[in-house]
Amino acid sequence: AQVPALLVRHSGDSLERLPARAADSYKNQFGHVMIVGGDHGFGGAALMAAESAARCGAGLISLATRPEHVVASLTRRPEVMAHPVVSGQELEPLLEAPNVIAVGPGLGQSPWSEQLLARAGRAHGALVLDADALNILAGGRVLAGIKRDDWVLTPHVGEAARLLGVASAEVAADPVAAAKAIQEKFSGVVVLKGAGTVIAHVEGVDVINTGNPGMASGGMGDLLTGVIAALIGQGMTLPAAARLGVWLHGEAGNRAAAEGQRGLLATDLLLHIRALVD
Ligand code: AMP
Ligand code: MG
Repeated sequence: AQVPALLVRHSGDSLERLPARAADSYKNQFGHVMIVGGDHGFGGAALMAAESAARCGAGLISLATRPEHVVASLTRRPEVMAHPVVSGQELEPLLEAPNVIAVGPGLGQSPWSEQLLARAGRAHGALVLDADALNILAGGRVLAGIKRDDWVLTPHVGEAARLLGVASAEVAADPVAAAKAIQEKFSGVVVLKGAGTVIAHVEGVDVINTGNPGMASGGMGDLLTGVIAALIGQGMTLPAAARLGVWLHGEAGNRAAAEGQRGLLATDLLLHIRALVD
């Protein structure tokens, strides 16, 4: 159900969930998520987003990345369709099939990165923008002035500050106001991540408090991107996917941290995501 209240703090029990799968289900019913990212040196981020989408129930998962990351990605996760792309032009035909496209994990900010975001940002179907996709968006040269109701933006405090053109301290001082301001500027759903994540959308603001400081390590945000994309692909509305995605990502982090917070790895969360999404 939608949350009409201005600001709702969620425990988890009140959240909309995915329905049980029918016995005669087939993969096309559960969405096709494409992850776009992985510039030179950042292939793992895009792969982790793809893998978390897979562990969160996406029917099909594609990855569009730098050619040098394709072999490693397929070796680790053969369920992912890994496409090498050297330009926006090469990406274009691949954008037809997915119903959700997540751009940003490991995207970088090179001309290659900008070309991919420019194409993917105009694709049909829902979008999740994270990481350097947000930094490029903040720069104003790509997707200038564009607002979309069908995108989810997932900044951390630093990315949020760049999207608003203010100092990080200002975002940290009032994350609810910052999330609302980003939502007004770019439309859609804004997920302002941190210790306590604020979700702003047209109906109001939600706050979700799962997660722990063990999650302050590389790759955690990339997993959240894949989770939210997978939930949208399986039919949830964008605000509901953001709420459940943030909750279960943090809860997966809490379960994985039962064996220790220090040294917790993003990929340690993957099987907990699987256990929580059903
Ligand atoms: P990113 O900064 O993009 O890697 O995203 C980090 C992810 O881990 C976000 O979903 C954060 O909400 C989560 N996270 C990081 N640090 C904490 C923390 N101290 N408490 C709870 N969640 C955290
Ligand atoms: Mg991040």
